[in-house]
Amino acid sequence: MNKQALLRSLPAVDKLLKEQTLQKLLEEFPRKLVIKETQELLEQYRHYLLSFAGDEQDFSFNFSSAALAEEITSKVREKNNMSLRRVINATGTIIHTNLGRAPLAKKAEEALLSVSSGYSNLELSLEKGERGSRQSHVENLLCDLTGAEGAVVVNNNAAAVFLVLQALAFGKEIIISRGELVEIGGSFRMPDVMSSSGVYMKEVGTTNKCYISDYEEAITDQTSVLLKVHTSNYRIVGFTKEVNRSELVELGQKAGIPVVEDLGSGSLINLEKYGLSPEPTVQECLQQGVSLVTFSGDKLLGGPQAGIIAGKKELVNKIKRNQIARALRVDKFTVAALEATLRLYWDEEQAINEIPVLSMLTHSESQLKNKAHKLYNQLVKEVASAKELTLIKDSSTVGGGAFPLEELSTYVIKFNPSQFSSTSLAKRLRQMTPPVLGRIHQDALYFDVRTLLEGEEFVLAEKLQEAVQEELKDLW
Ligand SMILES: *Cc1c(COP(=O)(O)O)cnc(C)c1O
Repeated sequence: MNKQALLRSLPAVDKLLKEQTLQKLLEEFPRKLVIKETQELLEQYRHYLLSFAGDEQDFSFNFSSAALAEEITSKVREKNNMSLRRVINATGTIIHTNLGRAPLAKKAEEALLSVSSGYSNLELSLEKGERGSRQSHVENLLCDLTGAEGAVVVNNNAAAVFLVLQALAFGKEIIISRGELVEIGGSFRMPDVMSSSGVYMKEVGTTNKCYISDYEEAITDQTSVLLKVHTSNYRIVGFTKEVNRSELVELGQKAGIPVVEDLGSGSLINLEKYGLSPEPTVQECLQQGVSLVTFSGDKLLGGPQAGIIAGKKELVNKIKRNQIARALRVDKFTVAALEATLRLYWDEEQAINEIPVLSMLTHSESQLKNKAHKLYNQLVKEVASAKELTLIKDSSTVGGGAFPLEELSTYVIKFNPSQFSSTSLAKRLRQMTPPVLGRIHQDALYFDVRTLLEGEEFVLAEKLQEAVQEELKDLW
């Protein structure tokens, strides 16, 4: 058919809507949405035909109303799906920023649900019947758990760093080592955060070496903060010298300048005894005399997105009074989920067992092997042949800029489809309900059992089976 004839064969919107499929669709979905999708689809085809410059013999369209109605139906259904959905993370990256970082503990989920659909005492002291502070629900807990004198919670750790600098050093200088000018990703770059918070950054040392004398010589009467930033997502190795915390604290005390440490992840539990490499805990930093620490709520802490500032009372109060604090304040959902998460830390064992990030980090190799074995057997039975599936030992990553060099031993199932590509299968898996995310590497798909939450291995098996069947159907 030629172009003009094809264009003429596109039905009008009104006529198309009379199709039985679309009449049914209209019973289920708002008329506005169905019309919009219909118009858009017709417009797309019209535009495509008009701009087509190749051989008209190559057209292979079917503009029957029935076929168009089918296409509209699937578009409307897809549009009506929630854009933000729960997904299954089989990538093995525990704190996966693209996948929403920390999944909440059951108790945090419950707390969140209970305050979200009703009223709460967010800013009311039930005891006095007077206005209270939203910070009060978490501040004492944070102090008890970390040894801090005071604490403030804001939207995320980037906001925490920004607020601390703005409140303590606006128009003044802060000193930072060149080796600690980190970029976290998503354009959080230390030098930029500093300039936008209105402080002057004085870099000292070199990329690989920094001495306490470098700081000492840089101090002037304008210096308001000595800033230490945890190099969370990289390490400088080889010929290096880093100023340690105690040295910096000693200098700060001598000069009367607060030392602030941006810990990034900020764990409350020393994870060394669970086989991870040493990382400073929040308690340790405060004990060593750091005036303020900042850290994320949704990295190693395993709670909601938040930024926590903890340390000396006097500085915390100054921060609370800062104008910007209001703009960065947390909502009731965050307060609820954070309070419930923090309460789990009263008992380390409970924290490890109930906070998903911590339990995933500390799964034993035999637990993982077991889980992977079961899943493997199910997949061989229901999804693909043993030729295409292998159970292998591999490693998971922590993610979220924590433990950048850590390789956690794990077990993964490698799927090497023989009849279709793994990229196409991965795409199909992303479109399942719920979507399933694995790792692709050299045309194989890997599923790491470490990041599967309870029961998700069964969903994974079911969705994988569905996706494989769709792939095979498309081959015919
Ligand atoms: C992750 C991180 C941040 C940013 O924290 P968010 O909670 O993502 O805003 C800042 N500093 C360091 C060192 C980090 O690791």
